[in-house]
Amino acid sequence: MIKKKITVAKGDGIGPEIMEATLRILEAAGAQIETEEIEVGEQVYLSGNTSGISRASWDVVRKNKIFLKGPITTPQGGGYKSLNVSTRKFLGLFANVRPCRSFAPFVRTRHPNLDLVVIRENEEDLYAGIEHQQTDEVVQCLKLISRPGCEKIVRYAFEYARQNGRRKVSCFTKDNIMKQTDGLFRTVFNEIAGQYPEIQSEHMIVDIGTAKVADTPEDFDVIVLPNLYGDILSDITAQIAGSVGLGGSSNVGEECAMFEAIHGSAPGLAGKDIANPSGLLHGAIMMLTHIGQPDVAQKIYNAWLRTIEQGVHTYDLYHEDTSTHLAGTQEFAQAIIANLGKEPLTVQPVRFHEAGPIVLPRYIRVPARQKELIGVDVFLHWRGRDPEELAKELQEIRQQAVFLSMVTNRGIKVWPDGFKETFCTDHWRCRFQVSEGATMVKQHIVDLLRGADEQGLDVIKTENLYSFDGVPAYSLGQGQ
Ligand code: NAD
Repeated sequence: MIKKKITVAKGDGIGPEIMEATLRILEAAGAQIETEEIEVGEQVYLSGNTSGISRASWDVVRKNKIFLKGPITTPQGGGYKSLNVSTRKFLGLFANVRPCRSFAPFVRTRHPNLDLVVIRENEEDLYAGIEHQQTDEVVQCLKLISRPGCEKIVRYAFEYARQNGRRKVSCFTKDNIMKQTDGLFRTVFNEIAGQYPEIQSEHMIVDIGTAKVADTPEDFDVIVLPNLYGDILSDITAQIAGSVGLGGSSNVGEECAMFEAIHGSAPGLAGKDIANPSGLLHGAIMMLTHIGQPDVAQKIYNAWLRTIEQGVHTYDLYHEDTSTHLAGTQEFAQAIIANLGKEPLTVQPVRFHEAGPIVLPRYIRVPARQKELIGVDVFLHWRGRDPEELAKELQEIRQQAVFLSMVTNRGIKVWPDGFKETFCTDHWRCRFQVSEGATMVKQHIVDLLRGADEQGLDVIKTENLYSFDGVPAYSLGQGQ
C-alpha cells in the first residue's frame, strides 16, 4: 500500500506531548502514512504573523489535503485571528463531526448509554468574525447563515446517519427568536429530512434540546446544529461522557479534511506528561477511516478500549473505583501499543468498514425570486434619551412617500407608543417605509441619508428592507 502523506502540526501547550503519543500508536499499528510537519500556532503568532501560519505552511496543508492538528493557543488580544477558525473556513471544511460515547463502567459517567454524534456547521453563523463597534455603548457581531451552508451541513448529517446506521437526526436552532437566520436552517432541515424517510427527524429549540441532551443523552443519535450551538453542545457531550480529553473531531470539506481533539491546548497541563492523548487519538482514528485505512483505525480503537477496560487511565479519568493504574501520557500510549491486536472483553468491540467519503451533490442555486425594496432601517448614534425627540428630528428629513414607521433601541420598539421604562442606549434603529401603493427606490435612501447628515444626525449604517415574492423578509421590532 502506498503511504498517504499527511500534514502534521504538533500545536501548543499539551499539543506536542499528545501528538507524540498519537503518532507512536499510529506507527505501531501499521498506519500507512508519511508525515510532513509544519509549525503553526503561538510561536508563529508571536513572531508577528497574526494568522498563526505562514504562506509556505498553507501550501503544504493544501497539497497534502489531510491535516492532523494539535491544539493551538490563540494569544489574547492584539488582532490575532484564530487559526482553527481560519483553517476551517479557508479550506472549506464545512462539517465538524464529533462522535461522543460513554465507556461505562470503566469511565465514570452519569450517562452509561450515551452514544451520539454532534455535526456542527463549521463556516458560518457568528463565527464569520464580522464585528464592529458602532457607538460609544454598542458593539455588534453579524450572524450570517446561507442556504448553501445549511444545505451542505444538513445533507451531510443525513448522509452520515445513513452511512453509519444511525436512526435519528435531531436539529437544534433558536428559530423562535431568530426567524430569518435560524429559521432558514430549520426550513432547510425540514426540506432535506423529507428526502430521508427511513431516518427519524426532529427539531428542538436549542436551549431545551441542550438541557435534554445533558439529562437523557441516550435519547439522541445524530444532532445537527449551527456553528455556535454546536461548539457549546459538543463540549457538553464530551464532558458528560467522562472528560473533554476524550473527544476527537473531523473537519470535513469537499477537498480537504482536518482532524483534531475537541479540547484546547490546556497550558496548565503542558510539559507534565499527564494529559490524556485520547482526544487527538480519536481524531487520528477518524482520519484513518477517512483515508481508507479502517482496519488500522479499528485495531487502534479496540486496543484503546481494552486499555480503558484494564483501568489504565490518565488523571482526568482516574478514580479509585474504576481505575487500576494512573498513567502518564506516554505510558498510556505504551499500554495501548501493548494491546494492539487485542479486543475489549466487556465493551462491544468496534467494527469499521470501508465506507468512502461522503460526497454531496453540487449546490444548485435557487431560482431568483421577485425582490422588492420596501423600506430601510437607518441606524443612528444618538446621545439623546427621549425617543419622541428623536422621532421629531427624523420627521424633518422624511420625504414624500417615505415615512418613519418605527424607532427601536436594541430591537425594542420605543416609538411610537414606547414604554418610558424601556432602557435606551445610544444606538437607535429608525425604520422608514413607503406609503401604501408607492414604490421605494434607492434614491429615497440616498435622500434620507443626505437629510440626516444635514440635520446633524450620525448615521452608522443602513439595512435595506426587502420583500421576496411579496413576503416581507426582515424581522419586526419587538412590540411592533
Ligand atoms: P482547554 O480545552 O485547553 O482546557 C480546559 C480544561 O480541560 C483543562 O484545564 C483541563 O482540565 C481539561 N483538559 C483539556 N484537555 C485535556 C486533556 N487532553 N487531558 C486532560 N484534561 C484536559 O480549554 P481552555 O483552557 O479554555 O483553552 C486553552 C487554549 O486552547 C486557549 O488558547 C484556546 O484558545 C485554545 N483552544 C484551542 C482549540 C483548538 O486548537 N482546536 C480548541 C479550544 C481551545
